[in-house]
Amino acid sequence: MSGAIHPVIERILIPEEEIRARIKEIGAEIGRDYRGRDLIMVGILKGSIPFLAELIKAVPLDCAIDFVSISSYEGTRSTGVARLLLDLRENPEGKDVLLVEDIIDTGLTINYIVSNLKTRKPKSLEVCTLLDKQVPRRMPFKARYVGFPIPNEFVIGFGLDYNEKYRNLPYVGVMRQPALREGAPQPKTATV
Ligand code: 5GP
Repeated sequence: MSGAIHPVIERILIPEEEIRARIKEIGAEIGRDYRGRDLIMVGILKGSIPFLAELIKAVPLDCAIDFVSISSYEGTRSTGVARLLLDLRENPEGKDVLLVEDIIDTGLTINYIVSNLKTRKPKSLEVCTLLDKQVPRRMPFKARYVGFPIPNEFVIGFGLDYNEKYRNLPYVGVMRQPALREGAPQPKTATV
């Protein structure tokens, strides 16, 4: 998508050029950190897709990619615990695994995936997130690589959805409140 700002966007939080520039920096950092290692970059579906697609091009290493998908029970279970819908194709044992996520908010999703993958004995396990919401976490978590810290607002674009839409916006924007109210369910049930 290009051109005018989408009508559901209240304001652009991070323009496309800034996102792409930051991804290049992170890619170079990952390249330095993982030189000579057996790296698998694991995208968490579906939100990480645009980020991962840009990031792998910026990592100057021979790395593999893989995916996991989880479902979130936010709102229906007190723990907000998730379930694995799609697992890795490759065994991560002994490999250097880098999880790639769109956003960390409460920390529940990433904590679930990290504890699940740790049981498979990767050599190392780190997290790279495009966005890191500056909120008190329900479960503490600190990602190794962070694109942008952002305020506690509901954002869409560059992979992030609302009711499965707007993932293809090339920027990250804050969604207009009326647009949020018009569509159910409420933001925290946005699919991962
Ligand atoms: P957490 O489990 O850390 O609360 O949230 C992780 C998941 O919640 C993300 O992968 C994302 O799908 C969803 N999420 C959290 N905050 C936002 C947001 O501001 N916008 C969108 N679209 N999804 C969000």
